[in-house]
Amino acid sequence: MDSSSLSELSQTDEEFTQVSLTRSRKRKKATKGTSIAARARKRRVADETLFSETQSSVGTTGTASLISNLSTSSTQIARGKQSLQLEEQAKKAKAPTRKRKVKEPPPEPTLADFAPRAKNDWKIGAHVSGAGGLENAVTNAASIGANAFALFLKSNRKWESPPLTEDTITRFRSRMRVLDYNPTFVLPHSTYLINMAHSDEGKREKGYQCFADDLRRCEQLGLTLCNFHPGFVSAGGTKETAITNIATCLNRAHREFPSVSTVIECMAGTKNVVGASFQDLADIIKLVEDKTKVGVCLDTCHMFAAGYDLRTKKSYEMTMEDFDSVIGLRYLKGMHLNDSKTPFQSNKDRHENLGIGTLGIQSFRNIVNDPRTKGIPLVLETPGFDCETVWRKEVEVLNRISARPIGVSDEDCQEEAVVEEIRRTIGAAEEAGYGAKGKVPKSRTSHGKTAKGKKRKKSGRGEEEDGEDDDDDEISEDG
Ligand SMILES: [Zn+2]
Ligand SMILES: [Zn+2]
Repeated sequence: MDSSSLSELSQTDEEFTQVSLTRSRKRKKATKGTSIAARARKRRVADETLFSETQSSVGTTGTASLISNLSTSSTQIARGKQSLQLEEQAKKAKAPTRKRKVKEPPPEPTLADFAPRAKNDWKIGAHVSGAGGLENAVTNAASIGANAFALFLKSNRKWESPPLTEDTITRFRSRMRVLDYNPTFVLPHSTYLINMAHSDEGKREKGYQCFADDLRRCEQLGLTLCNFHPGFVSAGGTKETAITNIATCLNRAHREFPSVSTVIECMAGTKNVVGASFQDLADIIKLVEDKTKVGVCLDTCHMFAAGYDLRTKKSYEMTMEDFDSVIGLRYLKGMHLNDSKTPFQSNKDRHENLGIGTLGIQSFRNIVNDPRTKGIPLVLETPGFDCETVWRKEVEVLNRISARPIGVSDEDCQEEAVVEEIRRTIGAAEEAGYGAKGKVPKSRTSHGKTAKGKKRKKSGRGEEEDGEDDDDDEISEDG
């Protein structure tokens, strides 16, 4: 791409951002305006209006079906007797039937409802929320301009969740089609509790069943990848048996759910975790019978914590060559793009927004300009600040810097400038009363309220408040 078309692209991206920011603000405003009380009031007024309409119309054109369809509001019960009399009158009059208007669900979104997404061979997105129905994950992805996304298939901290409803399955599949998402770029994240490495057969089985339930959900939704944490060496167990246990579970999963590939995530190296080294991952894969069904997800924060450097062009190259020689590039099925709050080799799993942590923006520039990471989901798990703007900015920045290979000088991709853009967006989100998930700044009061007294909103990532942060620490040996 030449420089003139590059600047054209940049301009368009900027415009897209402006348009989508405005839309987002409007949407937020609209949602905020409709309080529960206001909605209830509206519904009550509607019911009463309908009732009085019924009464006046029944004498002339009213019908039995119209009255029997009415909801039983208290007003209606009070006037029930009168209604029955009216019903009789209506029957006698044999008036033509007229059905009550059933409240329609909001129309399904179309591609035109969202700002156009960047055209890019690097499929960049975020781990979005599926709260209120997993179908919402698809629209949440479209809202931030994501070309890829991740989601939890159920509560990520519970052993059991209700099955997906037919309605969710239908809408999810339809939105994937309508909003132009390919399952190849969707990387669902399995439950954190699972430890298929466990040496206790009962606990391992419990983990497997929970994992199998995730894979079933993938099949129902038409998704083809499922990302999971390999697990921990349990008390009295060895790394070797832990790895064998994981591979045995994967072989079973591949037989039971042939349409889904399992994707092992690399870990930060906390305690007795499996998967903090490329060698661990390679050892698991070695024991997998159908190698076309297994892959790896590299999390930049975890890699860095575990001792794989990405910060310079040279260190990044070495890490990727290491990956290729130990595991093999053909197994790379996705990446989690997270900056880190902690230093190199810290073995700690603390995600930070891009460019603001110890990895720095150059690490991500290395990734989104590397042909080896084209065509796989590249998913942010950075603090989302419970609003769309921060991820939208990070997605936009990544798309922008990926169109500018290293060495191409351009104002738009100067490291300091793009990091400053991200900082400003975070600043604006905080100013508006949004807090980074689980981390209320010290300037704010406790009990989930900001200094301004606004209640903190539910997480912008995943179904629960919990995010990827600390995930290495959360699972216990008993998990
Ligand atoms: Zn993590
Ligand atoms: Zn993870």
